[in-house]
Amino acid sequence: METSLIIIKPDGVQRRLAGRILTRFEEKGLAIVGAKMMRIPLELAETHYEAHRERPFYPGLVQYMTSQPVLVVALRGKSAITVIRKMLGATFGSQADPGTIRGDFAISDGYNLVHASDSPEAAERELGLFFADGEVQDYEMHDTPWVYDTSSDLR
Ligand code: ADP
Repeated sequence: METSLIIIKPDGVQRRLAGRILTRFEEKGLAIVGAKMMRIPLELAETHYEAHRERPFYPGLVQYMTSQPVLVVALRGKSAITVIRKMLGATFGSQADPGTIRGDFAISDGYNLVHASDSPEAAERELGLFFADGEVQDYEMHDTPWVYDTSSDLR
């Protein structure tokens, strides 16, 4: 089981798509194990996106991510990090395939609705940035035998 960090960005909240986006992850079989609404402090946004610090879009990206509240969610499931990235689609909405979240709901380069961790290392780092100890829950989902077919060793 992997845990990934997603952020429904300000445009996702403002466009009232937060529920629909979360529903897609739930329908896939991923479990919500942490959630908080927040206005991202400037320093946290800068740290979160520090890999992009030298890129021309960085100042606008930080401004966008701190401009309005976001919904930060921890999602858990088998291969969750890869599965979620595939569900997001390409970075630019105009290039994302239909059927992906960005492909279905976004057309902008920057305003692309959702962030998701892109590797296990990024997920660990980002979960640590956005959630304090104890804020991500360990609990049993009671549909697990149906979601994962626990009757065989092939799950
Ligand atoms: P992803 O979110 O798909 O992992 P990146 O890590 O490359 O993409 O970029 C982080 C975010 O920065 C993107 O989701 C998008 O909001 C923004 N961004 C990336 N490239 C551009 C660009 N060329 N112009 C405007 N915004 C961009």
